[in-house]
Amino acid sequence: MNNIGYAATSSTSPLSPFKFFRREPGPKDVNMEILYCGICHSDLHAVRSEWPGTIYPIVPGHEIVGRILKVGSMVKKFKVGDIAAVGCMVDSCRKCDSCLAGNEQFCEVGCIYTYNSPNVHTKGITYGGYASHMVADEDFVLRVPTSYKEKDLAGVAPLLCAGITTYSPLRYWKIGKGSKVGVVGLGGLGHMAIKLAHAMEARVVLFTSSSSKIEDGKRLGADEVILTKDPKNLESNQRSFDLIIDTVAVQHDLNPYINLLKQDGAMCLVGVPEKPHPALNVFNLIKLRRKLVGSLIGGIKETQEMLDFCASNNITSDVEVIPMDKVNEAYNRLVKGDVKYRFTIDMSTLDKSSLDKT
Ligand code: NAP
Ligand code: ZN
Ligand code: ZN
Repeated sequence: MNNIGYAATSSTSPLSPFKFFRREPGPKDVNMEILYCGICHSDLHAVRSEWPGTIYPIVPGHEIVGRILKVGSMVKKFKVGDIAAVGCMVDSCRKCDSCLAGNEQFCEVGCIYTYNSPNVHTKGITYGGYASHMVADEDFVLRVPTSYKEKDLAGVAPLLCAGITTYSPLRYWKIGKGSKVGVVGLGGLGHMAIKLAHAMEARVVLFTSSSSKIEDGKRLGADEVILTKDPKNLESNQRSFDLIIDTVAVQHDLNPYINLLKQDGAMCLVGVPEKPHPALNVFNLIKLRRKLVGSLIGGIKETQEMLDFCASNNITSDVEVIPMDKVNEAYNRLVKGDVKYRFTIDMSTLDKSSLDKT
């Protein structure tokens, strides 16, 4: 089936209209009309080849909310008209230990990402959510809780990556009442980490490099905000955190944060900068058996659990909704940190007239 989306054809070219094919939905597939797609900093890293492996043209977008237009004959979870969502993955081997344990993101064969992954159906690559439609196997499509109304959906889209990427480590480290959680960086992931950790009743401390975000940090649920520009500010709160989630998209010194962890505490890196962080002082780790770890999105079951948790706690992302043709401007603003706190593309603004002609 014909699709229209926005693609980049090289690391230096802007995103522009792009026509392509998606497979006709098979028996287990759904076809959805995309309503909203969030802009993740990973989209920008991939489009600009800040990470290795980008195949052009690339259609980014993995924070997708849409309305089901068609379901295959064997689809059980969805019916036409349902509001559904697709996140960062559209398939995996489903047989390896990681997949069987619900951690499809760690699939031994390699999960199929929503964009820029091999597409076994078309023999090309997968194309993401800056597009008119999405076709995916229902097992990788999430139910959007019905308590979310039409007006909430732009803020639901970012939960599919920013939400699950921060929810997963919070759950893995059993964060709850009495826990102390640090969040480094107040962007798309950071603001979700604050909202989620606050809803889990943890004490939340935001570390930000932007003095303009102090008030917002508190409004979003941080109990304390620490401005990182002055290194002296990182000397308080030593030995007190159970978990620090680092969402910063550029390289920086991790040592001051490691010192804030209590015994057995963990510093979890979710931000993936283009260049490596400077080396760590191992003494700071061994002293209190502290852990430096990473985390990648979350499995499908956990993503559904996260959506249900957000719905029951009235959580959505704070979004600035933009029309499709403002996407390049949004990327430039994202680099400058000028977003509160996620851009979401209103896909009704995508010019679909060329589709009608085919
Ligand atoms: P974002 O909205 O751009 O937020 C990043 C934040 O980092 C900024 O808001 C800023 O917060 C802080 N920062 C500090 N210095 C910066 C600088 N020089 N330039 C840019 N940001 C700076 O990005 P995001 O969408 O939340 O993504 C954050 C990172 O996580 C990206 O690297 C992304 O690729 C990665 N990611 C990883 C996963 C995963 O599964 N692990 C999933 C999604 C995204 P302050 O102003 O508060 O300092
Ligand atoms: Zn993402
Ligand atoms: Zn697998």
